Amino acid sequence: MATKPERVELTPLEVLIRWDNGHASHYSNKYLRSQCPCASCVVEWTKRRVLDPATIPADIQALDYMEVGRYALSFLWSDGHDSGIYPYVLLEDLCQCQACLQSPASGKG
Ligand SMILES: [Zn+2]
Ligand SMILES: [Zn+2]
Repeated sequence: MATKPERVELTPLEVLIRWDNGHASHYSNKYLRSQCPCASCVVEWTKRRVLDPATIPADIQALDYMEVGRYALSFLWSDGHDSGIYPYVLLEDLCQCQACLQSPASGKG
């Protein structure tokens, strides 16, 4: 059921994830950083995002990543932030590849 990353690549511009279902996701570093779901970036009980994307350096990079409990990835960002845990389902949601961007309701069809 749950898709898992087969390969993760960190580049100066993007994070690339190759999933075990063959899907290839890519996310611009700044975008992925701005979606950080940790408690200091999002107020958990209101889901309000407190992180201001304008405060993220334009040249932000993921320096390293780590698998968390077989359901998520965490990234070490070049701004020193590393507390975000990105569940695989969230990463699939955030995918910015052409196919995903063109299907507004990814649950359909
Ligand atoms: Zn965060
Ligand atoms: Zn996609």
